Amino acid sequence: MMNSALNRPVLVLNRLWQAVSVCSARRALSLLYLGHAEVVDNAGGAYATLDFMEWNDFSRHADDEECFHTINFKIRVPQIIVLLLFDKMPRKEVKLTRNNIFERDRYTCQYCGRRLERKDLNIDHVIPRDRGGRTTWENVVTSCVPCNTRKSNHLAHQIGMTLLRKPRKPKLRTFINISLSTVPHDSWKHFLDLAYWNVELSD
Ligand SMILES: [Zn+2]
Repeated sequence: MMNSALNRPVLVLNRLWQAVSVCSARRALSLLYLGHAEVVDNAGGAYATLDFMEWNDFSRHADDEECFHTINFKIRVPQIIVLLLFDKMPRKEVKLTRNNIFERDRYTCQYCGRRLERKDLNIDHVIPRDRGGRTTWENVVTSCVPCNTRKSNHLAHQIGMTLLRKPRKPKLRTFINISLSTVPHDSWKHFLDLAYWNVELSD
């Protein structure tokens, strides 16, 4: 028996209790069951970790809507898990997509600095494709339509344009931090705030 609780997002912390990823409750429960992760629970203001058996016991008193049910048992869907081992969850690369490029550049044209809606933004190749520029994180930037048109197949410095910052491949944690407006649980905020500050300091 399946229910939608299995698709709920779960925040994943590494062994240093840093937010590294978001996974589905299905994946979180399987990591928990395999002993690769424990649930992070904030009971009475103190953080505790619970392994599968402890979490199973704890789940008996949980409300039904917080739980994943099978015919034989119910288990509460965790909000946060902490990985016990390194490398059990492969660190996903941030995919090079239009949306992710816009996210990295904060919806800001990297030439004129205007912040715009997604529909008014383009992707610009820093070294134009017809000069051998490739589509990589280091060679694409968010650009407004006028700047993109003006730059065309030139190199920016040839026509007096400059980049706000050198494009780089984003770190996964930067991306977790960006979705703060859609944090599904208050319990995540503590860890995302820490991630936010970590990201700012390392920039
Ligand atoms: Zn622009």
